[in-house]
Amino acid sequence: MKQVAIITGASRGIGAAIAQRLARDGFAVVVNYAGNVVEADKVVGAISAAGGTALALQADVADAAAVRGLFDQTIAQLGRVDVLVNNAGIMPSNLPQLSATDDDTFDRLVAVNLKGSFNTMREASTRLEHGGRIINFSSSLVGTLMPGYSAYVATKAGVEGMTMILARELRGKNITVNAVAPGPTATALFLDGKTPELIERLAKMPPLERLGTPEDIANAVSFLAGPDGGWINGQTLRANGGMV
Ligand code: NDP
Repeated sequence: MKQVAIITGASRGIGAAIAQRLARDGFAVVVNYAGNVVEADKVVGAISAAGGTALALQADVADAAAVRGLFDQTIAQLGRVDVLVNNAGIMPSNLPQLSATDDDTFDRLVAVNLKGSFNTMREASTRLEHGGRIINFSSSLVGTLMPGYSAYVATKAGVEGMTMILARELRGKNITVNAVAPGPTATALFLDGKTPELIERLAKMPPLERLGTPEDIANAVSFLAGPDGGWINGQTLRANGGMV
């Protein structure tokens, strides 16, 4: 039986690249999505066409009952869960400074990025197989501290904190818990609402002078999910071309 990886938010962007990479690595993958069934089905189709095993499952990670259902359906259809990649996340374009951030924006960021990661980690902590891996998603903005990102960074710093504590709480289960913190990466989440000049300026920030690609980030996740990453635990890996 193949090992099984759930990738949240895998219909587009970084999550779609992770699903395809982990399928190539030999995992049966669950392509979770919130609303975009057409894109999720395309990812499943590409994986199947390449000889891999994939299944699209809808679940809003902010909804604890839906997340329980995501794990139930995965185990019913694929038999087990070995890897959880907590990639689903939102970042509204043109976030204002803290003084102008409205309640809805703050609450939605917390619900999806922070509570969503909590919901999936809580399920994973009791349902992952021995030897399992949990890979969370932070952001290099936790390090750059650019004005305008206070609410978003609050959620990602919280994810880093939970990552380190859950790694310790899972002592004895042989399950690692780490986070990946991308820098600017060419997906809708980063590109939407930015001028070409701003994108160019941000792309030049890392010493490697380009935007990350979803595949750059998928490579880091593949390392943490695979045999070579087995000794890494309770860490945040910043994948950002050296920006911070
Ligand atoms: P995208 O906006 O390109 O894709 C987001 C994905 O998450 C989609 O598949 C979307 O599904 C899914 N999603 C959104 N909300 C939910 C939800 N409530 N429940 C389940 N799935 C959901 O984002 P990226 O690929 O750029 O981002 C992936 C992760 O990387 C995020 O955690 C983000 O914070 C982080 N990150 C990204 C950076 C970047 O520059 N791109 C930089 C640093 C961190 P659907 O298609 O159904 O809407």
